[in-house]
Amino acid sequence: MTATPRVIVVGAGAAGLAAAWRLATAGADVTVLERGARAGGRLAGEVRDGFTSEPGAQVLSSSDRSLCRLLEGAGLEDELLVLRSGGVGLVEAGFVHELHGSSPAALLRRPGVGLRAAARSVRLGRLVRRFGANLDPAYPERAAPHDDRSLADFARLYFGAGALQGWIGPETTGDCLGDEEETSRVLFLLRYVARRGARPALFRSGAGGFVAKLAGLLDVRTGTEVVQVDADTPGGALVHFREDEVEGTAGADAVVVATPAPLAAELARDVLAPAERDFHAGVTYEPAITLEVTLSDPVSARPLRVRVPHSEGWPIASLALEPGRQGGRVPDGCAVARLVARSDWSRAHLDAPDDAIAKELCRPLQRLFPVTTERTRDVRVARWPLALPRFEVGRYRALARLRRVEADRAAAGRRVWFAGDHLVAPSVEGAVTSGLRAADAAISRLGL
Ligand SMILES: Cc1cc2nc3c(=O)[nH]c(=O)nc-3n(C[C@H](O)[C@H](O)[C@H](O)COP(=O)(O)OP(=O)(O)OC[C@H]3O[C@@H](n4cnc5c(N)ncnc54)[C@H](O)[C@@H]3O)c2cc1C
Repeated sequence: MTATPRVIVVGAGAAGLAAAWRLATAGADVTVLERGARAGGRLAGEVRDGFTSEPGAQVLSSSDRSLCRLLEGAGLEDELLVLRSGGVGLVEAGFVHELHGSSPAALLRRPGVGLRAAARSVRLGRLVRRFGANLDPAYPERAAPHDDRSLADFARLYFGAGALQGWIGPETTGDCLGDEEETSRVLFLLRYVARRGARPALFRSGAGGFVAKLAGLLDVRTGTEVVQVDADTPGGALVHFREDEVEGTAGADAVVVATPAPLAAELARDVLAPAERDFHAGVTYEPAITLEVTLSDPVSARPLRVRVPHSEGWPIASLALEPGRQGGRVPDGCAVARLVARSDWSRAHLDAPDDAIAKELCRPLQRLFPVTTERTRDVRVARWPLALPRFEVGRYRALARLRRVEADRAAAGRRVWFAGDHLVAPSVEGAVTSGLRAADAAISRLGL
């Protein structure tokens, strides 16, 4: 190995950038290879007419520990804007009901929850205490012993049907996390543990602003598509890539593959054990279509996030309203509404024309906030075929098996690690955690 270990990170999404930052600060010579024209992956934003376009709502949390560690370490802590006055709402029978947390008293005020489910909600705290150390959001594989029920079964069994409909269901499907009949209860438990008592947060200058600043601290080569990762001897790896239609190969002491799972299975097919290949190839994703509506006047004085339960029969799962602020990502005096379509609706409309999508998705916005009809300045449709990885029942047990095989492979000398939100949680925090974990494992192997 050379004096300064050389590391290649494949993919400049949140996971890859976090891994690259951690490795670079530990002293490695790191290059990030990104096939897209810009860094950011699912976070890549775009600035147009003074507005920063965002993929989805990009709602973060003041308790996102890995993200805070990354921001502080990189001197970007100002990028996290914790909302002191943001509201959260739920649509019931076509109207927005503001939510005030999930204490039994607050749940009782939620539409459809009922006295029995609200009273039983205290069981959640007890269950979380009982499952204790297994519920660490940074190490989701430790929760494998509890990965035996769907969220819907769990909600009905412990809290009653009202809790599923008015509380637990919208909190997961409203975030596009998949069907509650298939999603593992572990996803809900880990999110509950991670976000207890936390405030919602946003990227102050938008996800795109954050990505640009972080990528600016690193050596990122955009427009470079990695086609294969091979093991090299002794103890290194070879990366084959294509840049401007020219093919090349680079050697490295270590490689972090930080692409979505199916791409990782394909790229690293020759270094993965069969069980690992099956894991990566078996990850499925919820698609999403998002609509960003720029408004000439604010609709609400403070940011508002509204979840829409499936029972409303609307095409959207959530919408977020953000009024402009001086120096913020939305100009003062204006506002942006960001709508995320339900995953089943998105799947059925991925090939539909933009104007048809915009018309359908604008309807719920105009119904909830009629003034938006005349204040709409611009609409932008974005399609995300692989928006969020699913964590269905059994995925956490598979993750635990994957981590064991990975540890065996690393002990046998493999110098390739993997990162991405599919390995921790379907969020920016999950992606960053996976990147830091992959980097920490590589750092310890490289003796940095
Ligand atoms: C519509 C939408 C709304 C969302 N809302 C939220 C939210 O409110 N809060 C939240 O926390 N999270 C949200 N997320 C999730 C969050 O954006 C993702 O979890 C996170 O960005 C995933 O990061 P990643 O690095 O794992 O993957 P990606 O961002 O997908 O990065 C992978 C990168 O690898 C690159 N790549 C792939 N193949 C190759 C190759 N062969 N060679 C080189 N490069 C390659 C890709 O171009 C990409 O840049 C949302 C996502 C979407 C789509």
